[in-house]
Amino acid sequence: MRRHLEFLEESGHLFVANASGLIAPEKTESLQNQSMVKLRSTDSRDSADNETRRSLVSERGEFKRSAKDKALALEAIAKKVSNCRLCRLCEGRTNAVPGEGSATARVMFIGEGPGATEDELGRPFVGRAGQLLTKIIESGMGLKREDVFIANIVKCRPPENRDPQPDEVAACLPYLNKQIEVIDPEVIIPLGRHSMREFAGVGEKDTISRVRGKVYPVHGRSVIPTFHPAYLLRNPPEKVKVWADIQLAMKELGLPIPKQNGSTP
Ligand code: SF4
Repeated sequence: MRRHLEFLEESGHLFVANASGLIAPEKTESLQNQSMVKLRSTDSRDSADNETRRSLVSERGEFKRSAKDKALALEAIAKKVSNCRLCRLCEGRTNAVPGEGSATARVMFIGEGPGATEDELGRPFVGRAGQLLTKIIESGMGLKREDVFIANIVKCRPPENRDPQPDEVAACLPYLNKQIEVIDPEVIIPLGRHSMREFAGVGEKDTISRVRGKVYPVHGRSVIPTFHPAYLLRNPPEKVKVWADIQLAMKELGLPIPKQNGSTP
């Protein structure tokens, strides 16, 4: 067992307790064993009610850490991501994109994977879609971009911006799950269908259009899937739906909804 744990730790898929506040191996093992989780929409008619999904996301508040320890833990994860070669996506990357934002964020936005600009700069959501996401956060939520945490399901750019493949997602997800555990956000907003499927417990055929507009309670967190900003750039009229989803998130966070000047962000 010890050798197995050492292998996982070396490969970046086990984060052992140390000064940076990461968790003990036995705790990680218990999390990895807690595999089948029933997820429910607040709308009992939703088909997600019948879906059982694998989730490694920890229970909210399960691991208490100071802000400093959280920041150190996120740095340690980012370092592992930058050196990671666990899937083929490492071969074409310029930079890995671990994610960025507040270590104590109350809300996390999670996209699918880095694009060209993100790969070039090593930062998430900094292209045109990222500018729109920043506008949603700042104008729509009245927060600063640095108040939230922004990450992706896969941390390296898929070639030609293709969809991440299941084995790539499986290889990369432990990093994201660890970031969620460390930050411990109240609200998770998956952006786009790949991200939504990892968190909202929906089926392969479910689309964002079908499952958005609802709050999915997952381990004490509120998961609120919505459209990817890149989709909104191609379909501006859909912004009104994202605005509705953002208002749901604000309600979950107990924050006032900023007044809009008659338009969506
Ligand atoms: S996508 Fe994730 S698992 Fe694959 S090489 Fe990059 S960091 Fe590692």
